[in-house]
Amino acid sequence: MANPMADESRRFVGSDEKNPFEAMSERFDRAAQLLGLDADLYAVMRVPSREIKVYIPVRMDSGHIQVFEGYRVQHNFARGPAKGGIRYAPDVNLDEVKALSAWMTWKCAVVNVPFGGGKGGIICDPSQMSLGELERLTRRYTAELIDFIGPDKDVPAPDMNTNEQTMAWVMDTYSMHARHTVNAVVTGKPVGLGGSLGRREATGRGVMFTVNEAIKLHSLTPDKTTVVVQGSGNVGGIGAELMHAAGYKVVAISDIFGGIYNKNGLNIPDVLKYLHANKTLEGFAGADRVGNSELLELECDVLAPCATENQITSANAGKLKCKILAEGANGPTTPKADKILHDNGIFVIPDILCNAGGVTVSYFEWVQDRMGYFWSEAQVNSRLEEKMVASFSELVHYSEKHQVDSRTAAYMLAIDRVAYDTRMRGIYA
Ligand code: NAD
Repeated sequence: MANPMADESRRFVGSDEKNPFEAMSERFDRAAQLLGLDADLYAVMRVPSREIKVYIPVRMDSGHIQVFEGYRVQHNFARGPAKGGIRYAPDVNLDEVKALSAWMTWKCAVVNVPFGGGKGGIICDPSQMSLGELERLTRRYTAELIDFIGPDKDVPAPDMNTNEQTMAWVMDTYSMHARHTVNAVVTGKPVGLGGSLGRREATGRGVMFTVNEAIKLHSLTPDKTTVVVQGSGNVGGIGAELMHAAGYKVVAISDIFGGIYNKNGLNIPDVLKYLHANKTLEGFAGADRVGNSELLELECDVLAPCATENQITSANAGKLKCKILAEGANGPTTPKADKILHDNGIFVIPDILCNAGGVTVSYFEWVQDRMGYFWSEAQVNSRLEEKMVASFSELVHYSEKHQVDSRTAAYMLAIDRVAYDTRMRGIYA
């Protein structure tokens, strides 16, 4: 079969640097071209398998009905059920959900867990909604998707602004329709309802495991490594806390309103306690205030963007002063920035590996739910470490073998695996 990518005109170059689906497509095309992916597989893998749009009527506390727009995109099922989070935010849009669902396909393939990719989102502002409104929104969204999700079809999980409580509501609503408890329909649940020990910390822990490997390539040890973290939520906050406990010197951390910096290192447990109590980092003693963009440009060994997309673009990539970029967030770097980072010799731990600890332990949770037999936290953490270290090593070897940067290597490795399994199934023959 002819290589469709031999024709440069078919190689996608995004016009909007900050459109996540364009960013995904640009990287996909580059990797597909280098792999010589055949035209049929290229056509199948480049687009989502299914895009679902729902309008969700919710009775608000005021007594009025408000209709919310929501999505579920199932990108690929070649290697197993779709898997991916549900995001609640005012700026959710279809292109973002499509990109996030494709990244899940590639992420699951990079760490070799038997899932495809999916993602969901609802346009809403959860900070302005009561718990009751959020519950009704979640239950109605789940009911709309009832035919499309399930342990063997598509297994949602939390993402930005959704949590264990949200997953418990999804699980309960699905179970009401199934007439029995189906805990494997979602992951990231409360432990008492079939959640896995270690799941809450898994993404941040996975970030640390990959950083542990990356610093070895730079002949660094944790005690000699300075770290800057953007974001102090599930990924950034927990990642920073675990790195602090492992001896890293975390010199700066932020939330959406800005950050704090101390070149001698921050006491992260105290910072998080302060943030929890005050809902802001402002006023934390013994540290200077830094803005979010300034924070990214601080001198450090490891910069870990763990907040949201498009933080490192062609506008600021040249100003980064880190040696290693550990992408805890999904899509924090644009393709234009990739080239600048590469030219400046910054080693990137790509998001589809760096933050894959979450989906890896989600896989463990799904396995435990289906077995009805639960593992100790130590077992979960050591199996996670084994997976992350092995995947990091595979990625570095792949990148050396094919003489490509780590991001391109991650896409190539993932696309190669999905393509192989698609071909073996023969479903598109
Ligand atoms: P979260 O809501 O718990 O935390 C997000 C943090 O980022 C908060 O501190 C918030 O204040 C900050 N933030 C949000 N927008 C920002 C902005 N524009 N500038 C600076 N800071 C900002 O979310 P999370 O679960 O930690 O997810 C963070 C990122 O990691 C997202 O890209 C998400 O898709 C990705 N991710 C999360 C998981 C997971 O298991 N939670 C797994 C894989 C990837």
